[in-house]
Amino acid sequence: MISKVLLLTFVFSLTTKFHNGKGLAALTGDTNNVVKDGPSDAYHLPYTTEPMSYELRITPAIRDNSFRGQVDIVVRAKQYTAEVILNSKDLIVSSVSSFQDLKTNRTTEIKDYVYEERNERLVIKLEKLILPSRLYKFTVVFSGILREDYTGFHKYFYDSGNHSRWIALTQFKPIYARRVFPCYDEPKFKTPYTISISRQKQHSALSNMPLKRIEFNQQSDMVWDHFETTKPIPTYLVAFMVSDFDKNSVNGDNIAMHTRKEYIEYTTYMMGKAPNLLKGVEKFTRIPYMLPKLDLVGIPLLNVYSMENWGLNSYEEFYVTLSDDSQTEEKIQGTMTILHEILHQWFGNMVTAPWWDNEWLNEGMCNYLNYYITSLLEPEWEMVESFVENVYQFALSWDEHDDTHPLTFAVSTPDDIVNAFDTISSDKSAALFRMLECVVGEDYFRISVNKYLDDYAYMVAGPTDLWNTFDYVLYDFDYVIEDGVTINNYMDSWTKQPGYPLITVTSTGSGSYNVSQKRFSLSYPRQTTDDVKWFVGLTYTTETDLDFEELTPSVWLKPTDEHKIMTVPEDSGWIMFNIQSSGFYRVNYDEKNWKLLLIQLITKPDRIHVLNRAQIIDDAFHLSRAALVPYNYYTSLLEYLLMEDHVTPWNTAVTGLSSIMDAIRRYPTEYSMFKKYTKGLADILYDKLSGNQIHNNMTKIGWSKLLSWTCNIGNLRCVKSASTHFDGWMNGQEIPSEMEEASLCVGMKKASTTALSKIHKLYKTTRSPSQKKIILRALACAENLQTLLSHLDLMRLDVANRESLQSFKTVCENVVATPAGVKALIGFLSRKLDTIRSSPIGDDLHKYIAVVYSALAPKVATDDEIIVMDKIRRSVKPGDLKAVLDDIYQKIESNLLWMERDHKKIMKAIIKM
Ligand SMILES: [Zn+2]
Repeated sequence: MISKVLLLTFVFSLTTKFHNGKGLAALTGDTNNVVKDGPSDAYHLPYTTEPMSYELRITPAIRDNSFRGQVDIVVRAKQYTAEVILNSKDLIVSSVSSFQDLKTNRTTEIKDYVYEERNERLVIKLEKLILPSRLYKFTVVFSGILREDYTGFHKYFYDSGNHSRWIALTQFKPIYARRVFPCYDEPKFKTPYTISISRQKQHSALSNMPLKRIEFNQQSDMVWDHFETTKPIPTYLVAFMVSDFDKNSVNGDNIAMHTRKEYIEYTTYMMGKAPNLLKGVEKFTRIPYMLPKLDLVGIPLLNVYSMENWGLNSYEEFYVTLSDDSQTEEKIQGTMTILHEILHQWFGNMVTAPWWDNEWLNEGMCNYLNYYITSLLEPEWEMVESFVENVYQFALSWDEHDDTHPLTFAVSTPDDIVNAFDTISSDKSAALFRMLECVVGEDYFRISVNKYLDDYAYMVAGPTDLWNTFDYVLYDFDYVIEDGVTINNYMDSWTKQPGYPLITVTSTGSGSYNVSQKRFSLSYPRQTTDDVKWFVGLTYTTETDLDFEELTPSVWLKPTDEHKIMTVPEDSGWIMFNIQSSGFYRVNYDEKNWKLLLIQLITKPDRIHVLNRAQIIDDAFHLSRAALVPYNYYTSLLEYLLMEDHVTPWNTAVTGLSSIMDAIRRYPTEYSMFKKYTKGLADILYDKLSGNQIHNNMTKIGWSKLLSWTCNIGNLRCVKSASTHFDGWMNGQEIPSEMEEASLCVGMKKASTTALSKIHKLYKTTRSPSQKKIILRALACAENLQTLLSHLDLMRLDVANRESLQSFKTVCENVVATPAGVKALIGFLSRKLDTIRSSPIGDDLHKYIAVVYSALAPKVATDDEIIVMDKIRRSVKPGDLKAVLDDIYQKIESNLLWMERDHKKIMKAIIKM
């Protein structure tokens, strides 16, 4: 899901980069799993048989860390065959029954069954051929382990008062169902499931569908819960759980929330919201929710933020346990996380992508519509701005290196599948859906999406099916977006090619402009000379026009166009492209136009739309990094922030400034000068924040992070105020919510023993998971090395019960926010070297190491730090971890080269000010 830490752009996530089977997931499996040069469909099941239905019975044995199961599968042969192949992993199969022909009741005996470890398959060999189109039923009896890695069927222990309690639940997406029962574990096979779970009387079980009946056993305290049969669903959406959770529901509603007992009272806020979210999706799709119930479950820890199991959505409990007085940002996060998974019930669950190479279609659609629907339900949250800042700008900055991948790319091995979920797949795709909506207009967008859902309900469909639906709808309405441009060729150019264009606009005389496109790249030195071109719909306005509302493109650049000459009335003043950041591209202008835009911003910024003010800061920063404009364009632009009272352009500026500050640290003199320069801007910002000038309606969205930033950068008044609040808190007073993080952070810097123990105590005792997150971030502010180390040791890397990878990543990303934190984390990593060296290839520890290394990569700057990072990667034995570290190290070198080239230029730009 989407949760980004401000100030931490350019954190190279592992998952984006390694799309060729070398990603994080490659570290988990044994290397036998990776086919080095086999055919790309080596991992697809042969389409000689297909499943028609499953009846699944599971008996967990919690104490033994195991489960037993039986699955009856009805299959249909597509051709004569004597072999039936299923997916299976880590299961012990004790028997496979003969195949019963459901028409004649005759049976075909089993010759043998073998497990193919390499491609996670169970191959059943039959004595005789079975017939095409005939239905056969067979039964597999098996057992497996209850895992502890948050995949498959896993259990999780948590503390509840003085008791240790457990839950056992499933996470099957993308390919973990095969760890629980032999199945056709590919999304294109959608069938009905009838599920039964055995449990102790004092527990309860949930599954996709409502409970049909309970079967009691006189002799034991075990009972069977038999659930209703599902609609046709892919294996990855099958779900069940056993727990002693409590339930919160409103009479008459089909939605219920479930959490551990002590948190159930915190679900009331979200319980009030969820039905409206569901109605919001029903209203947009014009298709009523299709199941009789929807359970939302809050789990202490998951390996994802949330999961859309049909009828049984699971969430990390933070998102469902909020209250009226939670911070607005937390309410937004909670609402959007719930809504994302509700949207999936239509996009992904009801209409499913046939294979993982197109999963971005559903992720992107849910991500975009999440903002769209939330903006209708909660207009004061300013979701469009949040989208541009958190999704659009973020995706642009991820997609600007030469080695990025297209949205649709070959996904074959199990590792590829796990790695297919990244920022490109969820954020770039969402930004493209917004762009598409602007191109065709809100009405045609909604009509086309509704028709697509209608046409492919309970089936599988991919991008071409969606684009075709758009093209037919536009044809029926006789609407042409541009001669020679169909939705198919338009969207293919964006989804099948990597990166995005830079549009260059230069004046060729009064009112006449030359417009051209070229792939934008920050890679230095350039690694590719790809001549990639797109269908680009351009929007623009001029100083005399000032039309920032028209988002339908009026000029088109096609891949075949070398360039385009366009005209505007003479004396139109400046020209500005990409209205409201609707197009997925950046824009560069000639010097004269940049200056006119600058004058406009410095004199009357409000005449330019707030999203374009943010965009021009973002573009100028990235263009100067790419050496396409001088840095003083960027720094001169930042001067206008004195007049900027809106949170979005400020956030954009802070992101750019922070990445320069991280990299320039290797030059101490320049670092202190740049810090001073940035502090000047932070001083302006603090005055605005404390003087209530910063505008984001009444909700103060985004304030607390900006406040923390101004404190971190050293604004004295901010530090003083935070410190006063902290001292007050030590004496029993409350801290205003927007100051809480900044105050605790300042408190951590003081680091007196009493203060530390009070913060630790709050962490242990707070019943608010959102407050836990704030404390976790604040703990990372410590400047004392020892304190930071004990904070890292909280993660207990050496013991079996590690924190989830996700929360570990959060801690690492926060710790590296300060130079002291970078030092502490490098020390931490160095000390783990022996453990890393001796751990076997595929050990889970490797993933944790890769996360630390990845968090450090954009932050290390000094020679000492870089030497240690180099030493670490060299000392790891050849294998997947080494490949990952080597790849990350390239980014460190690229940052190094960037600063070697630019540190003097940056100084020149700020000294000129
Ligand atoms: Zn999703």
